Amino acid sequence: MKKIFILILSLIVTTLTACGENTEAAFNQVPTTKDNSIEINFTNTPSSDSELITVNSFHNEEYKMNIEYPCTSYSQLNEITEDLVYGCIEQQKQTMNDGSELSISYETVKFTDYLLGFKFNIHTKTSTEETSVIKTLTFDLENGKNILLEDIFEDNIDYIELITKKLPLNILAHNPILTKSKLSNFIIDQSNLNIYFEANQFENSIENVSISLDSIYNKLSNFFKNNMEEQKKLIALTFDDGPNPLTTPVLLDGLAQRDVKATFFMLGMCIEKNIDIVKRMYNEGHGIGNHSYGHKKLTSLDEMGIKEQYNRPNEILNSIINTDSTLFRPPYGSVNDCVKSIVDVPIILWDIDPYDWKYKDADVISEHIINKAEDGDIILLHDIYSTSVEAAFKVIDALKEKGFKFVTVDELIRRNNVQPEASQVFRFERKNENS
Ligand code: ZN
Repeated sequence: MKKIFILILSLIVTTLTACGENTEAAFNQVPTTKDNSIEINFTNTPSSDSELITVNSFHNEEYKMNIEYPCTSYSQLNEITEDLVYGCIEQQKQTMNDGSELSISYETVKFTDYLLGFKFNIHTKTSTEETSVIKTLTFDLENGKNILLEDIFEDNIDYIELITKKLPLNILAHNPILTKSKLSNFIIDQSNLNIYFEANQFENSIENVSISLDSIYNKLSNFFKNNMEEQKKLIALTFDDGPNPLTTPVLLDGLAQRDVKATFFMLGMCIEKNIDIVKRMYNEGHGIGNHSYGHKKLTSLDEMGIKEQYNRPNEILNSIINTDSTLFRPPYGSVNDCVKSIVDVPIILWDIDPYDWKYKDADVISEHIINKAEDGDIILLHDIYSTSVEAAFKVIDALKEKGFKFVTVDELIRRNNVQPEASQVFRFERKNENS
């Protein structure tokens, strides 16, 4: 009879253990530990880190435990967390009579809103020694998945070898042998993959190594890259004053090779001389912009003159590709109210101007852009110079490594469902930059 009672009791306890299986009921429930010999009641409260998690906490002087751990709405993920936490509690129960103390705290590291890492700091203290151990868990809270290191790399990548190569030289000197289990503790923040090693794992003890995500971008799995894409580091290349029969086709070849779409602000007088190039541009999905007919400073013209400069390129475009330009960039970026009253598409200026027409040096131009590039930027170049074309390729290759995605200006200004108005001026320019 007594045995049956214990069995029933332990069944009830086990059922209560799974926290947050139902998020609505999760708050203030009191799950207990898997062992009922001592009473450990966790308090469940909302988390300030994320709406997708709650916090289970237990603070008790008598048992010398201070424990906090995150709870999700996925029971299978909670079991993984609890295995980690209860393992420590079991140990503490063995040693607490000797004065041992246990504290488990954690911090949430967000890669995206749904891809979260939890970094646990497990601290034990006895009369003779104190130890701190870092343990980590990474969860995909969109799909209820526990993320392992292998999930973030492409299948054919030997990530153990890759990480070994990234170890600091003083560690490499000792020929460390990494294994899957030695790489089980990792956290991904906005820019790095951080791996935590157990104390004294290597002769020359290191606790962690950080590897920049940019440096391993090409090795990452599609799952992980898609999560990175969601962070939306978008950038738009724009090319003015063309097309040019010598340099523009070279640019189009290189863009096609790199699968990059750009936006061309063309002069009417160049469009009419390079019809096939414009057709190719359009067919290959690049943005078609109007940069006036003859590159006159519009603010020095009267209304008739502005209309002539604005409308003629559209008439030519219509005869070639059956459509007007969707964007306008005034020569020299000069705009006044009269220009705005005539232009019936968004007016696009720029954020980064490397003065490519002045320097005519691919390295100088590309470095300027690469150093300044930020999410949402519009870059000004001229496809009539071979040095600018060369610089564009360098910029694309370098910024792709850094996780940038090249899009047309149309795509950039319509991000987050923004609907631009006619003659609205887009100048994502950072303040005080000389243009
Ligand atoms: Zn121009």
